[in-house]
Amino acid sequence: MDNSVRDTVILGTGCAGLTAAIYAGRANLKPLVIEGHEPGGQLSLTTLVENFPGFPEGIQGPELIDNMRKQAARFGAEFMAGHLVTADLLERPFKLDFGGKVIHTRTLIIASGASARWLGLPSEQALIGHGVSSCATCDGFFFSGKPITVIGGGDSAMEEALFLTRFATKVTLIHRRDHFRASKIMLDRARKHEKIEFLTDTVVEEVHDVAAKEVTALKLKNLKTGKVWDFPTSAMFLGIGHEPNARMFDGQLDKDPDGYIKTRDFVFTNVPGVFACGDVQDRRYRQAITAAGSGCAAAIETEKFLEEHGR
Ligand code: NAP
Repeated sequence: MDNSVRDTVILGTGCAGLTAAIYAGRANLKPLVIEGHEPGGQLSLTTLVENFPGFPEGIQGPELIDNMRKQAARFGAEFMAGHLVTADLLERPFKLDFGGKVIHTRTLIIASGASARWLGLPSEQALIGHGVSSCATCDGFFFSGKPITVIGGGDSAMEEALFLTRFATKVTLIHRRDHFRASKIMLDRARKHEKIEFLTDTVVEEVHDVAAKEVTALKLKNLKTGKVWDFPTSAMFLGIGHEPNARMFDGQLDKDPDGYIKTRDFVFTNVPGVFACGDVQDRRYRQAITAAGSGCAAAIETEKFLEEHGR
């Protein structure tokens, strides 16, 4: 890999980043695509994707991503595993530091997506992969024939709870309020399901049992009555939303109060030559197809920027 100034670097290998890579590759920009700690993004954690146009029978998420990756490579995209530590977007070309390896680039396409949110309890963190999970489709199977708990009150939590009924003897959905953000149709579906029980106004204070390296129970608190009790369960699935992966641009790019990168005209950030696409800037649609669309737009604008400002 040569170390001269790149025309464009694409941060992320989800639907947005790979679509940007296909378009930038076909425009002969020889994009360098950075693969972070969640390669393939959220699609690589799903099973059947039924709403991506062109696949009447649906397609497996990992297969869809793999196809996009191959398509991007065919048009000259280069891939590098890396974690962006700091970025200097004030200097031109931009300077990206991947923990020792520094790359300079004339343009940057940010497609770093959003990652699952956690409660932040030390016991929860210690038990990730040992009964605590943020991906029902990845880990649900391991708890076949056991009781499972899901946290959250939005569509993700409803979807996870409904999915997990395939494996669990019982799914308990725990939500901190008694009002739900979930759409009526999803909420109704979960409420009607015989295997799903709701515990509202309730929060998790601790996950047992860290010493045994498995989830055996949750210490719960009812926020209205103050009651605290241990609730036996075999697994805790988080469905409490996502955090945009944009912290490394703090102070340089405009963001909304929840940390999503602010864009105008789909993909333009406040720094000329830096474009953002996919879930890192989209808190509204968050679909594979909209991420792909914005990745395409980011690559086209990158090409235009380089034509106007010189390569
Ligand atoms: P969301 O709508 O933001 O809901 C997050 C839920 O988690 C809220 O109920 C929130 O509680 C709770 N929560 C957040 N932080 C928490 C914490 N620290 N402790 C306990 N609870 C916490 O997120 P989402 O469900 O991931 O949905 C995001 C978007 O994707 C929505 O637009 C949704 O419609 C869409 N989506 C659609 C589908 C579908 O249609 N199939 C599936 C998944 C997602 P509060 O309500 O009290 O804040």
